[in-house]
Amino acid sequence: AHLDRIDAVEPAVHAFLHVADTEALATAADVDARRAAGEELHPLAGVPIAVKDVVVTRGLPTTAGSRILEGWVPPYDATLVERIKAAGLPILGKTNMDEFAMGSSTEHSGYGNTHNPWDLERIPGGSGGGSAAAVAAYEAPLAIGTDTGGSIRQPAAVTGTVGVKPTYGSVSRYGLVALASSLDQAGPCTRTVLDSALLHELIGGHDPRDSTSLTDPATGYVAAAREGAAGDLRGVRVGVIRELQGEGYQPGVIARFEESLDALRTAGADIVEVSCPSFAYALAAYYLILPAEASSNLAKFDGMRFGLRVEPSEGPVTAERVMAATRGQGFGDEVKRRIILGTYALSAGYYDAYYGSAQKVRTLIQRDFAAAFEQTDVLVSPTAPTTAFKLGEKLDDPLAMYLNDVATIPANLAGVPGMSLPNGLSDDGLPVGFQILAPAREDARLYRVGAALE
Ligand code: GLN
Repeated sequence: AHLDRIDAVEPAVHAFLHVADTEALATAADVDARRAAGEELHPLAGVPIAVKDVVVTRGLPTTAGSRILEGWVPPYDATLVERIKAAGLPILGKTNMDEFAMGSSTEHSGYGNTHNPWDLERIPGGSGGGSAAAVAAYEAPLAIGTDTGGSIRQPAAVTGTVGVKPTYGSVSRYGLVALASSLDQAGPCTRTVLDSALLHELIGGHDPRDSTSLTDPATGYVAAAREGAAGDLRGVRVGVIRELQGEGYQPGVIARFEESLDALRTAGADIVEVSCPSFAYALAAYYLILPAEASSNLAKFDGMRFGLRVEPSEGPVTAERVMAATRGQGFGDEVKRRIILGTYALSAGYYDAYYGSAQKVRTLIQRDFAAAFEQTDVLVSPTAPTTAFKLGEKLDDPLAMYLNDVATIPANLAGVPGMSLPNGLSDDGLPVGFQILAPAREDARLYRVGAALE
């Protein structure tokens, strides 16, 4: 049924870069046979899933949205994909994204943009717009995204889906095409909080192949979601982040946010306002740290080891000239912009002024979170300042595009978990997201509060 749905809506939505119909049907048949034979299966066995194309999948093309990886078929699976396969979830295919996960609209994909199913003239968010659109358009009940600065939560917000960025280290990064290794985290994109909890428990937990993987088991999320669904939040302290609600936020976004605060009060939660003054510098720090790490991570795309190789049209064929020709042709504008920014920020003479200062801001943001969580159990804000903007609207204005991440980026800089929940429709009829943040390793709180609000 999902493959039929994909056939029907893909010409309009373009959420997928590759549909793995043969493989998905084979997995489904295998699960049916095992179930018929009386085998005890995972609760999600047989439930199809879409995977963002930044996650490597053995035998299925993986491009990370870039032309430089066109035609590359990985010889191994990411740890999270191994777990998905072991549990018997058919992988429907790989979803569209901004090139190397750089963007907030999926317009930076090397393979054309994805359309928001709510309004095909609008962006589905980014970088994981394909995963969110696939879930919102009923092409897939579950999807995997990655969130370095909001790429699970912001697409979830603008497509009316649930998106979770787990605590840094909760889900293995082994087999993700790295964007910024100190910020990247994979997580669920689904239609309900309970589905995200089930998927998070499946993909999370320790992995010795990721040196930053936490040793904590990924348990208790489903139980927390079930507990929250009863709607009783008595004794839960909710902090409203003062810095994430004023200027630049669409009135309809703020109105829905206020209604959710009322719903939290009705459920018995105590609402207080907290201040996180260093959040004012989060965007600036992020757009130094991310390009710095990305410029280093992308150095491996040299025309020798993966995907595209372009030889210079004239003159001698030296290694350096092959690299220049390959990277010049294979990378899109946003990727080039960030490589230049990142190498500049890391260069001798500027390192302390830019990268060093950004790292200090990161510490200040962590302290703001620590202070806020001394008085609260969870923090809340709108996920994004606006609803989905029109395709093309911010494409020529990188700063305007970056501003869309203002509310999601602090969580990545601090490593804390965050969830975006559907929060009704704004006055323009488009979905709004409600963001919940919790202390590191307290992801269960997101599921409890999220399920109570749902
Ligand atoms: N929009 C942010 C950026 O462009 C987020 C990216 C992400 O989370 N992968 O960097």
